[in-house]
Amino acid sequence: MARIDDSFMHQGMRRKLVEEIRQKGITDEKVLEAIGSIPRHLFMDTTFVQFAYIDKAFPIAAGQTISQPFTVAFQTQALQIKKFERVLEVGTGSGYQAAVLCRMGASVFTIERQKALYDFASNLLPGLGYRPHFFYGDGYQGLPTYGPFDKIIVTAGASFVPEPLKQQLKIGGILVIPVGNNTLQIMKIITRISDLEYAEEDKGGFVFVPLLTGLSD
Ligand code: SAH
Repeated sequence: MARIDDSFMHQGMRRKLVEEIRQKGITDEKVLEAIGSIPRHLFMDTTFVQFAYIDKAFPIAAGQTISQPFTVAFQTQALQIKKFERVLEVGTGSGYQAAVLCRMGASVFTIERQKALYDFASNLLPGLGYRPHFFYGDGYQGLPTYGPFDKIIVTAGASFVPEPLKQQLKIGGILVIPVGNNTLQIMKIITRISDLEYAEEDKGGFVFVPLLTGLSD
């Protein structure tokens, strides 16, 4: 395992980042603790350390992005994560969001359609002590054989809510998904009330890379 390069300087920058997202309205202390603990700079190219702890999305491999820390915190807070819950993430990307969910004690299942990112995240996280179950595949279908899930998070912009994801939610479960066009998505918080009923809330505009079908070639 490579040495984990996480210095006092990085920790200091993280404390400032936590205060910044707290100011922006994140109140769940367990979410803030996770962001304060996870070395985000290790999820990005080493030349970009100075960008790791500012509250912005940043390019990673395969034309994708690591989400803005506030966005990660906002989606995670909306999920109301409790220990040992089964959580499905669509769009592993760098693996940062999956690490946040693991840190909060969830049992995490994460899917990515870009092989390079699937490889990157599944190599990085175990060395940091986080062990989600990694899948290389198309998240539109969810993971029928591993569901149902207490919580589902989609970290790419969808043009509609995929029906399989709604079907794979437990009753009382929460799905957080940005839905819209290529330039703007609305964060939808969908709660499964009963077998056939879902409640839906809209929580502000965000910009994600698009949710795409199939595997990358
Ligand atoms: N959660 C990530 C953010 C990644 S950006 C992080 O913390 O870094 C969104 C990711 O969704 C991209 O990596 C993209 O390749 C992936 N993606 C897009 N469509 C997908 C699909 N249908 N299934 C699985 N992953 C998908």
